[in-house]
Amino acid sequence: MKLTSDFISGYSVPIQKLRFSPNNNSIKVMRDDLYPVAFGGNKARKTEIFFDDILQDKSIDTVVTYGSSSSNHCRTVACLCSKFHLDCIIVSPSEQSENTSNVKLNKIFGAKTVECPVSEVSLVIEQTIENLRKSGKNPYFIYGGGHGNLGTLAYERVFDEILKIEKDLSIKFDYIFHASGTGTTQAGLVSGKIKRKENVNIVGISIARRKPYGRDVVVQSVKDFLKLDGVSEIDKHIVFVDDYVNDGYGVYSQEQLLLMTKMLQQEGLPLDHTYTGKAFYGMVEYLTREKIYGKNILFIHTGGTPLFYDDLEKMV
Ligand SMILES: *Cc1c(COP(=O)(O)O)cnc(C)c1O
Repeated sequence: MKLTSDFISGYSVPIQKLRFSPNNNSIKVMRDDLYPVAFGGNKARKTEIFFDDILQDKSIDTVVTYGSSSSNHCRTVACLCSKFHLDCIIVSPSEQSENTSNVKLNKIFGAKTVECPVSEVSLVIEQTIENLRKSGKNPYFIYGGGHGNLGTLAYERVFDEILKIEKDLSIKFDYIFHASGTGTTQAGLVSGKIKRKENVNIVGISIARRKPYGRDVVVQSVKDFLKLDGVSEIDKHIVFVDDYVNDGYGVYSQEQLLLMTKMLQQEGLPLDHTYTGKAFYGMVEYLTREKIYGKNILFIHTGGTPLFYDDLEKMV
């Protein structure tokens, strides 16, 4: 059930075929950045599903969530709160509080941001929710990044859409690559793969987290979502690559920047520094390192359009 989307049929986003073909691999890009809700991206898909849940309970009047100033998740939540006349409170770490496009948009959407040191975030969230309840409000909490089973569901559905695309185009993707952050997107795709008994290799390129933690979270999310007990069945499906993290969240190399600029110039494909640029660069390196030639590849462009504009001058 889609309470928030006006989309009806066909694919939910355009699929872009690239001329760029490293190692003779044929790359298609699933343009989730163009998903038509709140400036798109994987957070738009996830947030939509949370709102399907929220809008069924008419007594909910406030949404509380968490994220930094570069959080695409906070922007999509703030946008849908504005659209559906709900109060929005964003708890945000004061260590990462730049005036990004996402932050400016959150203000336009009327969200209230509560800043605190990162170490106090869980406490402040608890207090915020408690105070709202005391004042007669009925808040709904969404984990940072839209993490959780509803977020996972968004990309299980995307997996089914990918199967439809394969059928329509009479192709089989050998690999699906995407940026992996909290691991929810990857967990959704892998859950879809397991449920449908497919063989495609799903490769999450980590943009911040390292192994084993980053990978363990994906395993746990799939386990929670599919309500499976053993991890052995899940384990073999999860390829979590942390070799292109660089020095952490938001840190990028000159090589990454060059490739991003090249993709923008040659393909008109915008990639942001923090997520999709890092993942796309990681994918191309991985194809070479793993000697992958002549395969069908799908890159899921997970979004970040406002972030792209924040960093634009670094490209020229
Ligand atoms: C949040 C985000 C990701 C990571 O998604 P997860 O589901 O948290 O792994 C990737 N790309 C973009 C643009 C994002 O905003």
